[in-house]
Amino acid sequence: MNRSYDVLIIGAGLAGVYTALAIDPKYTVCLIAKESVSHSNSMLAQGGIAAELSDDPIRLDSHFHDTLKAGSNLNNPEAVHFLVKNAQDAIASLVSLGIQFDKDEHQRYLLTQEGGHSYRRILHSGGDASGYHATKGLTQQINLHPNIELLEETIALDLLLDASKRVIGASVLIRDADYEPIMAKVTILATGGIGSVYGATTNDLSATGDGIGMAFRAGANIEDMEFVQFHPTALYDESQTERRRFLISEALRGEGAYLINIEKQRFMSKYHPRLEMAPRDIVSQAIYREMYDTWTDHVYLDTRHLDPSYLETRFPTIFNHLQSKHIHMGKDLIPVAPCEHFICGGVAVDLNGETSVKNLYAVGETAHTGVHGANRLASNSLLECVVFGQAAANRINQTLEHIPIPHPVVLAELPNYHYNYKPLRKKIGDYMDEYAGIVRTKEGLSLTRTMLEGLRDSLYKAPNLTRYYYEALNLVETAWLITDHALTREDSVGCHFRIN
Ligand SMILES: Cc1cc2nc3c(=O)[nH]c(=O)nc-3n(C[C@H](O)[C@H](O)[C@H](O)COP(=O)(O)OP(=O)(O)OC[C@H]3O[C@@H](n4cnc5c(N)ncnc54)[C@H](O)[C@@H]3O)c2cc1C
Repeated sequence: MNRSYDVLIIGAGLAGVYTALAIDPKYTVCLIAKESVSHSNSMLAQGGIAAELSDDPIRLDSHFHDTLKAGSNLNNPEAVHFLVKNAQDAIASLVSLGIQFDKDEHQRYLLTQEGGHSYRRILHSGGDASGYHATKGLTQQINLHPNIELLEETIALDLLLDASKRVIGASVLIRDADYEPIMAKVTILATGGIGSVYGATTNDLSATGDGIGMAFRAGANIEDMEFVQFHPTALYDESQTERRRFLISEALRGEGAYLINIEKQRFMSKYHPRLEMAPRDIVSQAIYREMYDTWTDHVYLDTRHLDPSYLETRFPTIFNHLQSKHIHMGKDLIPVAPCEHFICGGVAVDLNGETSVKNLYAVGETAHTGVHGANRLASNSLLECVVFGQAAANRINQTLEHIPIPHPVVLAELPNYHYNYKPLRKKIGDYMDEYAGIVRTKEGLSLTRTMLEGLRDSLYKAPNLTRYYYEALNLVETAWLITDHALTREDSVGCHFRIN
C-alpha cells in the first residue's frame, strides 16, 4: 500500500497528539502508536502540569529560576524562558480543547507543589490522574480532525532517508504483519521515554528509546543522555517481579508527607534545606545514602499525620492502588525506593523542535530542548510536550508547502524468524541498574559500554523483521548513549553522580 502524508508523527502520547492537533487541518497527518493509545507515559502522569498563572513578575521569574536551579544551570536558558513564557497559553489551549483542571468551589484552580518549586503552581486533573485526563481528552479530539489518521499497533522501525540525507518518512510494521514505508514531507519523533533500558522503572514498558535509537541511526545529534532522572518514591514491594514500578507522586510530599528511614528517623534535613521538597536528584541520592547506611533497599513515606479521607479524595489513584496492596494511606507507612523515571537528554532540537537532520522534528520526552538541564523540575514535562509541540507545529505550518512530496521507496527485504530477546533485555536492565544508576563509577560504566557494543554488533549482524528485534536494538543503542555520555562527564552534577 502506498501511504503518503504531509506529516508523519511517530508516537501518540501527549506530545504527539497535541502536535497533531496543532498542525494546520489543510495538511494530512499520519499519527502512529506502537500499541493502543492507552499505553504511554503521558497516560500515567499523576502530579500535574506546572504553569505560573499569576502575572506577578516575581512568580513568573521564579518558575524560570526554579527550573534552572533544579537543572544545576546546565539548562538552555533560552529554552527555559520559552517554556515559562508560553505556559499560560499552553494551559489556555488545553482548556480550549476540553481539558478540565481541578477547581475549588469558587472555580479557582487548585494548585499543588512539588520538589524544587518555590510556589504552588501545579495544575492537576482528577486529583492524581492528570496525564490520563489530558491525553485521553486530546485523543478524543482526533475524531473531529478528518485530516489526522491514527494507526495503532503500528511500530516505526527506522527512518527513511533520501540521497541527500533528508528524512522522507519511516518504515513501519503494522500489527506485526504488514511491513510498509510511510512517506511524509516531515517526520516528527514523539516516542517518549527510555524506562525499559533499566531493570526497574515507573514508565510504561513500551518506553524502549525508539525515537532516540532511530534518530541516532539517521545521524541526528543526541545530547545529555547521562542525565537520567530517578524518581525518589516508587512503591517498593519485595515480592514484585514486574519491572514497572507504581509511582507515588511527589505531590503527596507537597501535601505534607515526609520520608523516614528504616529506623523510623526523618533524614532530609541532613541533605537539603527544602527537606522533602528538594529537587528529585537530591532526594533520590539522599534515599540511596540512607538505604546504604541502614543496609536496606527502601525507606518509607509517612502520611500517618494526614487525614485519610482528604488523601482519598486528593489522590484517588494512589489511594486505591495502595489499598489493593493492603497499605492504607493515612494509617500505614508506605515503602518506597528510587527507580528510573525520565530522560532529561535526547534528540537535540532547537526552539522549533527541529533536529540536526533535515525534515526531522522531535517533541516530548524523546527530544532534548535543553529545558531540563541536569535534572528535570517536577511537572515541567507535560508542559514541555505542549509548548514545544505547538512550536514545532507552527514551524511546520509555515514551511511545509516548500517541501517536495517524497518519491515512494521500496523497502529492502529482511529475514523474519522467532527469537527470544527477553534474556537480552534483562541483561541490559541488570547492567544499567547496577552500573548506570544513581551512583556511577568509571569501571562500571566502561564495563557496561563494552558489553553493549558486543550486543549491538551481534544485533546488527542478525536483523530480524519483528517489533522485539527493533526494540532490542533501540534499547542497546539508548543504553550505549547513556554510558558513553556518562563516561565523558567525569564530574557529578544533577542526576549524574560519579564517585570516580
Ligand atoms: C508514572 C509517571 C508519572 C509522571 N508524572 C508526571 C507529572 O505529573 N507531570 C509531568 O510533567 N510529567 C510526568 N511524568 C513524565 C511525563 O508523563 C512524560 O515525560 C510525558 O508524558 C512524555 O510524553 P510523550 O508524549 O513524549 O511520550 P509518551 O506519553 O510516553 O508517548 C510515547 C508514544 O510513542 C509511541 N511509540 C514509542 N515508540 C514507538 C515506535 N517505534 N513506533 C510507533 N510509536 C511509538 C508509544 O506507543 C506512545 O504512543 C510522569 C511519567 C511517569 C512514567
